[in-house]
Amino acid sequence: MIQVIGYAADQAKAPLAPHVFQRREPRDCDVVIDIQYCGICHTDIHQVNDEWGGSVFPMVPGHEIVGVVSQVGKQVAHYKIGDRVGVGCFVDSCRKCTPCSKGLEQYCLEGMTTTYNGVERDGKTPTQGGYSNKIVVDENYVLKIPDNLPLDKTAPLLCAGITLYSPLKHWQAGPGKKVAIIGLGGLGHMGVKIAHALGAEVTVLSHSLKKLEDGKKMGADKFYATSDPEIFEKLQGYFDLIISTVSTDFDLNKFLNLLTLDGTMVQVGLPEKETQVGFVSLISTRRSLAGSLIGGILETQEMLNFCSKNNIVSDIEIIPIQKVDEAYKRILNSDVRYRFVIDMKSLK
Ligand code: NAP
Ligand code: ZN
Ligand code: ZN
Repeated sequence: MIQVIGYAADQAKAPLAPHVFQRREPRDCDVVIDIQYCGICHTDIHQVNDEWGGSVFPMVPGHEIVGVVSQVGKQVAHYKIGDRVGVGCFVDSCRKCTPCSKGLEQYCLEGMTTTYNGVERDGKTPTQGGYSNKIVVDENYVLKIPDNLPLDKTAPLLCAGITLYSPLKHWQAGPGKKVAIIGLGGLGHMGVKIAHALGAEVTVLSHSLKKLEDGKKMGADKFYATSDPEIFEKLQGYFDLIISTVSTDFDLNKFLNLLTLDGTMVQVGLPEKETQVGFVSLISTRRSLAGSLIGGILETQEMLNFCSKNNIVSDIEIIPIQKVDEAYKRILNSDVRYRFVIDMKSLK
């Protein structure tokens, strides 16, 4: 077994504290990664607080992991010691079902093995995430970080980046398409950058105008505050695609009315409470309401390569791990510009 140091919550809503634990002895197909940085996703907060139910403790969160390969099993074909790599939201899946065989492991019919707050394929060993100094992962679930991308600013691409890239590609954001991103946080700011690079017209719908200058620099063509009721008149029927990253309860029906004929609203934010959908706005203009979950390994690699080509990285604030609870509070106050990334050197 490999001894690892990390930070864990030992029960729901508990502050994170140092935690020593074991990871499996590397198997023939495994790589061991020395973690250098890990992004903080709002999902970490939902799960530490057990807002979705079923959280398992102690929990070492973190699924925006980047680092350097320090050991490889004897059958590892694609990685060698010293390679710069990443790990996102899952570390295994059944590898046999239809979604897995199409490279859509996130929709595995037997359930993907989440990077933390899950269990390995043996059905019993708990998984632990990236707020730690080492991780052992099957090479098929590891991503290559392109040479021109700095590791710290790339960490958030492993969840925030792919979560927006996947629906933007699936619903064909590109030249001539009007795309809105609701919420300019970790996910939202990646969405603006990627949609802009894909050639779409991008609008940010934020709850205030505080982030307007930043949004424009990221590539937003338009920026509106949703606190202004007039925008819901002005923008009625305007967008082809709306992606909502909002992490709390909100009235999505108001936003459905902003879709054009055949437009689609995709929900990626996952608030604690379910929401009611008004069918009239869907029926009246053949609109669709959809959801989307991260992205598969192939598509995540495609996204990293796309970001490399277009010089896209995340806007980050680096923190030592001792400040993680403070960062959680700031994220909950929408006071993040635009992703916190933990420097794992602070663990030593
Ligand atoms: P985040 O950085 O906290 O961003 C969320 C943004 O939502 C905030 O920056 C804020 O943007 C807006 N917001 C927050 N509270 C609001 C309120 N009361 N009213 C209106 N807007 C509000 O979070 P994140 O890491 O991007 O994650 C967002 C959500 O996506 C979370 O629920 C997370 O669990 C989920 N998620 C889903 C997937 C998936 O695969 N589907 C993957 C990762 C995360 P403004 O200040 O601009 O309004
Ligand atoms: Zn995430
Ligand atoms: Zn599967």
